[in-house]
Amino acid sequence: MGIRGSRSRLPWNVGARTVILRRVSSEAWEKLKEWSREPEGVAIFTDIDGTLAPIVPTPDLSEVPEELRQLLSRLAESYRIVAGISGRATPDAKKLLGLEDVVYYGNHGFEILRDGAVEVVPEAMPYEEKVRELEGLAREVLELRGAFIEDKGITASIHYRNAPPEVGEMSKAFVKREGERLGLRITVGRGVVEARPPIRADKGTAVRRLVEEYGPERALFIGDDTTDLDAFRALEELREEGVLRESLRVGVRSDEGPPEIVSEADLVVDGVEGVGDVLRVLAGG
Ligand SMILES: [Mg+2]
Repeated sequence: MGIRGSRSRLPWNVGARTVILRRVSSEAWEKLKEWSREPEGVAIFTDIDGTLAPIVPTPDLSEVPEELRQLLSRLAESYRIVAGISGRATPDAKKLLGLEDVVYYGNHGFEILRDGAVEVVPEAMPYEEKVRELEGLAREVLELRGAFIEDKGITASIHYRNAPPEVGEMSKAFVKREGERLGLRITVGRGVVEARPPIRADKGTAVRRLVEEYGPERALFIGDDTTDLDAFRALEELREEGVLRESLRVGVRSDEGPPEIVSEADLVVDGVEGVGDVLRVLAGG
């Protein structure tokens, strides 16, 4: 009896919610169609891994489907800007997407790659020397002991996953001590300790910078993960400030993604295939 009662309530609630979601998303699809008629005023910002490239066991096996690459290449010709905004280092992001006309923003929001050149965001520049110094010290002290120092430009990553445990402890302590002395921000991840300039840089600051630089009236962001929420929020802020006339947050639903990627989105699509639908509408059909 009890089970029956709760079961009968469930479809009603789900039904009401579905109706609301459908109405919101049909408005968003209409908006996309409308935007596609005036592409020169529109910025297309997109995450790459999990959004354009399906998630695979190791990042070096990632691939962007050929159809999406062709669509993006077409969009880059008529839209104000098409930018791939990624956690990867920018040359890596470019290799994955393989398109010249796209702007790449990466390395935790510190780097832009366009027209063949990598630019470090100006606020981070004063720390470039300090990051180099830390990398040099880490090479002298930690590399011989089995740590791997990754050359990432404006940020430094010291990996100790494959080193003995005591080298891991030593790496963390060393990078924390020296990094703090140099005024850098230190974060510890899984098997890695990283040093970066102590300024705010993320997908949100990336979106803001590109909007201010390229001056679109409308902008959308497509993403699937936690770091993409910063970009969603930046779009909202820019619209509230009147910098953008309209914005659109496209969430890519997946089993591992955070719930906010759905709840904070204006339009939710399923996986890389759903992103293809968005790009096709932007391309005019
Ligand atoms: Mg992603």
